[in-house]
Amino acid sequence: MVCMNLEDYIRNVPDFPVKGIQFKDVTTLCQNPIAFKESCDRIINHYKVMGINKVAAIEARGYVWGGVIAYYLDAGFILIRKPGKLPAKIISETYDLEYGTDTIEMHEDAIERGEKVLIFDDLLATGGTAKAACNLIEKAGGEVAGVAFIIELTGSLHGRDKLEGYDILSLVQIPVEE
Ligand code: AMP
Repeated sequence: MVCMNLEDYIRNVPDFPVKGIQFKDVTTLCQNPIAFKESCDRIINHYKVMGINKVAAIEARGYVWGGVIAYYLDAGFILIRKPGKLPAKIISETYDLEYGTDTIEMHEDAIERGEKVLIFDDLLATGGTAKAACNLIEKAGGEVAGVAFIIELTGSLHGRDKLEGYDILSLVQIPVEE
């Protein structure tokens, strides 16, 4: 495997989606074939001996890597979605944002009791989304075997603290000040 600095392939977009937020754009990473392959390989290699049954990825950028990871881990793939998108019976989890709340949903039959699930999202910020995903998986009877990200924003957001007790993998750590 080529050992490359994946951070070089992440685009910073200032003031998106709102003023004061620096958006970490992973589209520039996944559009580069070598960087995309390396980012997939590093996650797959970390989890390949862990007997993962399902990979649960969070809409929408999570799906770009999630399906590839599931394929190479011989695991099934689960879609965690924003409200109102999934057609069959769902379970949901609501979590706090700085202002207001947000909700994620999953099909209630997506996991069989005791299955080992790897959660994937592109970025860890405050950890609210990933923690809600962990709660969803556990509500459905699954075991969270790991939580993986391309980017972890470190510093004042303390996302990792919210995920205490879980196996966390992040490929790129970027400090942020609030
Ligand atoms: P959080 O729940 O605070 O950990 O936020 C994580 C979710 O919000 C992920 O699905 C990210 O895609 C998105 N997100 C939060 N902050 C950023 C950022 N600075 N750049 C890109 N995506 C972000």
